[in-house]
Amino acid sequence: MLATLGVQGLPGPLEVAAKAGELIADGTLFTDALASLRRVLLGFLLGTLLAIPVGFLMGWYATARGLLEPYVQFFRTIPPLAIIPLAIVLMGIGEVPKVFVIFLAAFLSSVVSTFQGVVDVDKTLINAARVLGASDGTIFLKVVVPASTPFILVGMRVGLGSAWGTLVAAELIAAQEGLGFRMQQAQLYYDLSTIFVGLIAIGVLGLLMDRLLLLAERRPHQLAGAPMNAKISFRDIVKTYPMKDDTFTALDHVSLDIADREFVTVVGPSGCGKSTLMSMAAGLVEPTSGEVLVDGAPVSGPGPDRGVIFQQYALFPWLTVRKNVEFGLKLMELPAEERRQRAQRAIELVGLSDFADALPKMLSGGMKQRCAIARAYAVDPQVLLMDEPFGALDALTRVQLQDQLLDTWSKDQRTVMFITHDVDEAVYLARRVIVMAARPGRLHKIIDVDLPYPRTEEMRLSPEFGRIRNEVWHAVYHQAPAVPAA
Ligand code: ADP
Repeated sequence: MLATLGVQGLPGPLEVAAKAGELIADGTLFTDALASLRRVLLGFLLGTLLAIPVGFLMGWYATARGLLEPYVQFFRTIPPLAIIPLAIVLMGIGEVPKVFVIFLAAFLSSVVSTFQGVVDVDKTLINAARVLGASDGTIFLKVVVPASTPFILVGMRVGLGSAWGTLVAAELIAAQEGLGFRMQQAQLYYDLSTIFVGLIAIGVLGLLMDRLLLLAERRPHQLAGAPMNAKISFRDIVKTYPMKDDTFTALDHVSLDIADREFVTVVGPSGCGKSTLMSMAAGLVEPTSGEVLVDGAPVSGPGPDRGVIFQQYALFPWLTVRKNVEFGLKLMELPAEERRQRAQRAIELVGLSDFADALPKMLSGGMKQRCAIARAYAVDPQVLLMDEPFGALDALTRVQLQDQLLDTWSKDQRTVMFITHDVDEAVYLARRVIVMAARPGRLHKIIDVDLPYPRTEEMRLSPEFGRIRNEVWHAVYHQAPAVPAA
């Protein structure tokens, strides 16, 4: 086929192999490969070493991003090869300009992936660490760094590709040895076999280095705080968000007390402010006016006295079940043995013992949520804030987890605030169902569930359960809007 394209006189594999043997025997291939490898490695390492801190700075600080990004993007559009003439003029024809262009290629590829990795870190993971008591510094080291590691590795691999790609051109700058130089020389003598040997050597070395990078996968971990006795009090909470020419009222004068050891569920149409209200108790969102008290003290931020369980599980994907559960305990700086025991107890409580050493990706949705619950239980919070935790699960798993939750709640009686859109679930779990209304978000009705604990599956079929469910259903779905639709 190549012959039809006018390409003729290509050496066969045997010829290339013979040439390779020759070049290996006289040491040329080894010397060249070593010279090239040294340049690529040096340029690549320097480029990556600079790219990672710069990428983190850009990802973490909006100001740094604003300052640096235009320059990075500008230089990215200039191929490093095009810098060669400038490099020669400024740096001469020694090793420096060759390593410099490789450095530039590696740096520009890696910096963008690192920065993108940091920007894309799942905010729920950051919140999950925050509610377990992690400081900003710890969040950066223990969440942002590991969460962006896969992006950095991809960036490094792309950077490595660019580094090799730039090598041959860099070795055109008056090199005396190196694979690029050898191929350049061979071209002058129409020595195709040597060119093929050079190409294969570059391919093999590039592939080997890429595989080494793939092996570089690592994993980290982390910590939390101390428990208190808690009861939640929302006092005249207003939350507004600025809109184009107006403000949007997400919560309109909400007042609500949740008693110590009470189990309340919160239901209401989407957008009525359920999550916002709970996030205030968690210390993740501040009210515009009014205050949230936990145990009589104003909430000033997240704390390990309040465990939060998110619908999206928010498990740290790089940690095993056990390490996820120990995350908050490490933040509490508990001794290793106590950490291990508490984590083990929490894991057993949610029935995950057989999967303690599995990574989250190996778990089903229900198991992931059990793990998230175990992580919250392990730090022994007095308050559990659960935002539609079972929303994404199938009906059977949901019922099992409801029973398990009630079982543990009845044993150690934490205060639970549980958001759900499932009326049946709301009634089954709670002592009181808080019904909210939307536009603006406000309390609509509070319905007592006068059914004894433990709740049983038979109770779901009882007339009393049916009556309460209808009342809640009606309160949720037949709400008169506070503000008539425009
Ligand atoms: P729910 O949990 O009941 O579905 P949310 O508490 O999530 O409701 O949101 C209440 C309202 O506040 C929604 O209309 C939502 O769009 C709005 N909202 C929530 N967070 C923000 C924000 N950061 N900026 C602007 N609006 C927001």
